[in-house]
Amino acid sequence: MSPSPSTATTPSQELPAVVIVGRPNVGKSTLLNRVLGRREAIVEERPGVTRDRKEVEAEWRGRPFRLVDTGGWLPSGSALDDKVSRQSEKAMREADLVLFVVDASVGITEEDGRVAELLRRADVPVMVLANKVDDSNREGAAWELMALGLGEPWPISALHGRGTGDMLDALVDQLPEWTPEDEIEVEEAAPLDEERTFSVSIVGRPNVGKSTLFNRLIGDERAVVHDMPGTTRDAVDTIVETPDGPIRFVDTAGMRRRSRIDEGTEYYSFVRALKAVDSSDVALLVIDATEGITHQDQRLAERIDAAGCPVVVLLNKWETLDAEQREDITYQVGQKLRFLGEAAVLKISALTGKGVHNLLPALADAIADYHTRIPTRKVNDVIRAAQQAQPAPHGARVLYATQGAVDPPTFTLFANRELPQTYVRYLERKLREELDLGATPIKMRIRRRS
Ligand code: GDP
Ligand code: GDP
Repeated sequence: MSPSPSTATTPSQELPAVVIVGRPNVGKSTLLNRVLGRREAIVEERPGVTRDRKEVEAEWRGRPFRLVDTGGWLPSGSALDDKVSRQSEKAMREADLVLFVVDASVGITEEDGRVAELLRRADVPVMVLANKVDDSNREGAAWELMALGLGEPWPISALHGRGTGDMLDALVDQLPEWTPEDEIEVEEAAPLDEERTFSVSIVGRPNVGKSTLFNRLIGDERAVVHDMPGTTRDAVDTIVETPDGPIRFVDTAGMRRRSRIDEGTEYYSFVRALKAVDSSDVALLVIDATEGITHQDQRLAERIDAAGCPVVVLLNKWETLDAEQREDITYQVGQKLRFLGEAAVLKISALTGKGVHNLLPALADAIADYHTRIPTRKVNDVIRAAQQAQPAPHGARVLYATQGAVDPPTFTLFANRELPQTYVRYLERKLREELDLGATPIKMRIRRRS
């Protein structure tokens, strides 16, 4: 009789609430089942059967909402009726939208009139649903419901589904745009209203040309440059104002000083590089092309990649290579750094400046991606298409997705159950591809609605 707890979903209280009201037997439960697409509510043949208020999570065109069946609406009557009515009134007060179901085959009853009166006074959008319009012959009956004074009725057949698609389209259009921002404020990524400075680290073994490159970058730009205390002890960051916005170069103390502190062992510089990478949004991995891709270069690249930081590979000292060497190192990049995938590879000479001009545009793209704000509708379109192309295993499904934060783009996916990591990465890849999010890091957060 009542739905089993395992199939009933407990909807999140933050979702917009759509409340179904109407006197008994007009088809409220049937409508609820229709929207859910499965038999979850109870449908009773007898009129006047009271049920507890029933609430489920539903979704139409990627827009989730709570659907509340008030189980009847009797403005007056027995104690039991009063209880049901109180529940209905409470549900209505909390509603973002009310669906007022009327049996068009019966026409407006006295009870319907009383409900309409209450609704006209309430400050809530109402859609009048003229139910049991099973075929076009009965459409005329629907128009009689104009008399309720609540706008044009929607002729539907909850039982057969007639007209319900158009009605649901109109329904979700009227719902408030649901972005669970409150929930996301606590997250580590920046909230939508504040921008963080894009951070870049220049890393690589000693003597590959990091300082030379850095000094050229800040020299070429004729940009305003200032120091900032770095995130780690004795580290100094440099902020460079570029036409595309400020860029923070992480841990540049050693690079800016004329007589540089000795970086010491390769091990020390390696550890230092990884720290810098941790607080940066993109890592410029400088490689001394005259030495090929060394084991140490490879290890550093692996660690950067594992930290989830995008990499731009800079093959430095390019001007000293002959044709054969150039071909050789290009081959080596394909082999030894293959795991970096789509990472940009630039051939530069920090010493002469050749090729360095390509670097800032590459970073500008990354910065723009970093600050991207994607409309919720678009995010959901991508997720929906991705799920259609390849559904998650075991009935797992993303119900709703939104970009909760920028810097870097952070997507929050609301799923009916746990999503396998591989599937989350698949969705991340789709988002990156479809939304053109090139080189920026992306964060994915999964929230479960159980
Ligand atoms: P509720 O009590 O208001 O929730 O109404 P129910 O969903 O229990 O439906 C009452 C009766 O109306 C049931 O016998 C349903 O099968 C029937 N009913 C519901 N919708 C339609 C409809 O669109 N067309 C027809 N012909 N019958 C319907
Ligand atoms: P870092 O230790 O990685 O900061 O490397 P430096 O910037 O100090 O450079 C190490 C050496 O490589 C210096 O002698 C630079 O002049 C030289 N160097 C840097 N970039 C280039 C380049 O593009 N071409 C050539 N030929 N030498 C370079």
